[in-house]
Amino acid sequence: MAAGKIPVIKLEATVQDLKEIFQDDAVRLRLAEEQMMGDTLSVYRCGDSVGVCSGVLLPHTGFLKAFKMLQVSPVTLSGSTEPSGILRMIGVAFPGESEREEWEKEQEEARTRDHRRIGKAQELFFFHDVSPGSCFFMPKGAHIYNTLTDFIKSEYRRRGFSEVVTPTLYSTSLWERSGHWEHYSENMFTVTCEPHTFALKPMNCPAHCLMFEQRVRSWRELPIRWADFGALHRNEHSGALGGLTRVRRFCQDDAHIFCTPEQLEEEITACLDFVRGVYRVFGFSFHCLLSTRPVPCLGEPALWDAAEQIDIQIRDALGRQHQCATIQLDFQLPIRFSLQYTGADGQMYRPIMIHRAVLGSLERMIAILAENFRGKWPFWLSPAQVMVVPVGGGSETYGQEVVCRLREAGFMADIDDDRGSTLNKKIRSAQLAQYNYIFVVGEKECASGTVSVRTRAGKQLGQKSLQEVMCSLTELRQTRSNQEEL
Ligand SMILES: [Zn+2]
Repeated sequence: MAAGKIPVIKLEATVQDLKEIFQDDAVRLRLAEEQMMGDTLSVYRCGDSVGVCSGVLLPHTGFLKAFKMLQVSPVTLSGSTEPSGILRMIGVAFPGESEREEWEKEQEEARTRDHRRIGKAQELFFFHDVSPGSCFFMPKGAHIYNTLTDFIKSEYRRRGFSEVVTPTLYSTSLWERSGHWEHYSENMFTVTCEPHTFALKPMNCPAHCLMFEQRVRSWRELPIRWADFGALHRNEHSGALGGLTRVRRFCQDDAHIFCTPEQLEEEITACLDFVRGVYRVFGFSFHCLLSTRPVPCLGEPALWDAAEQIDIQIRDALGRQHQCATIQLDFQLPIRFSLQYTGADGQMYRPIMIHRAVLGSLERMIAILAENFRGKWPFWLSPAQVMVVPVGGGSETYGQEVVCRLREAGFMADIDDDRGSTLNKKIRSAQLAQYNYIFVVGEKECASGTVSVRTRAGKQLGQKSLQEVMCSLTELRQTRSNQEEL
């Protein structure tokens, strides 16, 4: 076929043309007619075969050197439950064998890295039809979720943010006031509680504006930096949902800063420093994109002239780009909510609002991190940190004691005391479950208060005193290091 260089010819067929082309094949005629949207339909002829196709095709078959068949499935016509007798074959063609091999390797790599596969294999999370797009985090997934949140919270304390807790349901009157009702209502879930209509919050900003206006604010209080981990809901189309990257329910490490125009520059610099500090821990590099006049814009376009938005693009271990963090200046919401503060001169002024998130959605960040680390979580973030494996004699009791000590210190430790399994099998299964370290304990370790340490990658780090190991683990956790050596 490739040697033949058979040309592929396009034809715009009318209903009449289709009837002629498919005169001997009623089923294919019907399939073609079902795809007809306007007056004509694109049909391609290649040698003896004719097919309906909308895509751009190759000029001739000479380019098709290697094939990979993806799917062969029976075709069922619409309105019928019986198979039509036609088979649909889906395949990919390549200009050569080496291109096909490369593509297959990439596909395999993407499959093993897919966060949905990792989530299932490690029992981190799942989705269920009863709540499409809302994730169920199992204990190990919740551990990652909470560890990320704790990381950001510890940064909040250092960086002068305070946390607030706000409602999830708000009367539509709040969304009308903020402008969301006009521009964003189709993405919001509403709840009717006669005679009122409420909506689940898709973002925290209006709630924080309400907090600001609770009393008269003074310039001395500014900047105010309020952070909120509240659950947000956005009505994504069910077709767009997929794993943790597109969800309906999510949390952001969201915060709003209210400041004076004079404080703006310093605040933005501090936000960028925050982003830099967090992404360094994950090993991500990033660059910033500056845009003005975000779309869709609320209110008068003239007011957006001074508005700016910084989108931060990260680059992960695979070289893929993601947009997670964002820093956005807002002059509109303070006007809509008539926010004011008393200046040093006793006059009233309008504060500027900065919306910012570092991780962005925690759900999406967990997906990015799972794929970035290929499910091999760094120790500080890992939901499976240490597996203790006792071997022989009275070492089980000592093994239990080691687990107790580790758990008391807040580590995620388990014991494999299955008597029906061999040492090698236990080590192998702990490695597959991605435990960062495996502590083998036998009579020798029991007598000396030590553990024999192996890494997830199979490296033997030798016999160490439990005390010493605990210190090293604590250090690893505190520094959020990704190193394996102890
Ligand atoms: Zn906001």
